[in-house]
Amino acid sequence: MIDGHTQLYGFYANPAKHSLSPLMHNLSFKTLGINATYLAFEIPEHFEQAAAAIRALDLGGINLSHPFKTAIIDYLDELTPTAQLLGAVNTVTNRNGYLIGDSTDGAGFIAGLAQHQQSVTAKTVSVLGAGGAGLAVIAAVAQNQAKVIHVFKRQNATFDKIVQRCHEIGDATQVEIQVHPYADQAEMTRILAQSDYLINTTNIGMGQAQDQLPLPLTTLEALAPAAIVCDLIYVPKATRLLQQATALGHTCYNGLDMLIYQGALAFEEWTGEEMPVPQVTKALYEKLYATVKI
Ligand code: NAP
Repeated sequence: MIDGHTQLYGFYANPAKHSLSPLMHNLSFKTLGINATYLAFEIPEHFEQAAAAIRALDLGGINLSHPFKTAIIDYLDELTPTAQLLGAVNTVTNRNGYLIGDSTDGAGFIAGLAQHQQSVTAKTVSVLGAGGAGLAVIAAVAQNQAKVIHVFKRQNATFDKIVQRCHEIGDATQVEIQVHPYADQAEMTRILAQSDYLINTTNIGMGQAQDQLPLPLTTLEALAPAAIVCDLIYVPKATRLLQQATALGHTCYNGLDMLIYQGALAFEEWTGEEMPVPQVTKALYEKLYATVKI
């Protein structure tokens, strides 16, 4: 019950109203008996004022998405090493007015894999796309000491910037990261044959591209037989990539674990408590897939 002692947390983004974070955090507060509530704030800009509001209203913490992930950084007091590496934050923790920015997306991806007893350490990892979520995954895979990371990125205006960012991540983690043109299917086919993981971080497989594969089927067929296939997309539950990869005998994971664990890590930073993941997972399954996980 909300009363005079209730601690407020929230989500800054535009759009924000679709977010599953209020469901995840409010259910967690309720389950653990924490007197707190979490609201979505759909705000287009006003980054300085938005950061000031965290201090002024004594919010416990904030999650952030577009356009806040990079724009709010100038108004924070400290960044974690991961947030510095990425130049982006998805979580702000308020410690008595001192605002700390972190990025839990990549660590959430790794924690999700760990739930299935999977690890990227010493593995050859191929990543399709390198946008905001893709870079977070690339950095986390590097921080977890993959053997080598192959990134496939379209050769457009952001190619050189991504190459530079991947070099910085590689230097900081001492992990080799190679960035290849997405269109070079011969190279992709050669590399996938040696890969332990294929991770799709592009939008291909959802929305208007729901019926599409992010790579030609013949290239997917070249993937090493024991490779694990991950898609950051969680709606639909199984993208065409995951359907095809499952049919080819690969172990597959969608992006729901990443969503849950990026939230769980933020929740722990704010409250010092573990998110009740089984309850949150069940609620998300019911909301997203209208079925209960067995
Ligand atoms: P983003 O910043 O817009 O990045 C999208 C990436 O996909 C870019 O690298 C883009 O390439 C690439 N891409 C898009 N269309 C492509 C195409 N036709 N061919 C090749 N590459 C293409 O988006 P984001 O925030 O990283 O999100 C990416 C995906 O991850 C989305 O599906 C999102 O739903 C999902 N996601 C999941 C979670 C989770 O918790 N599970 C969290 C965040 C995001 P260019 O760089 O060349 O434009």
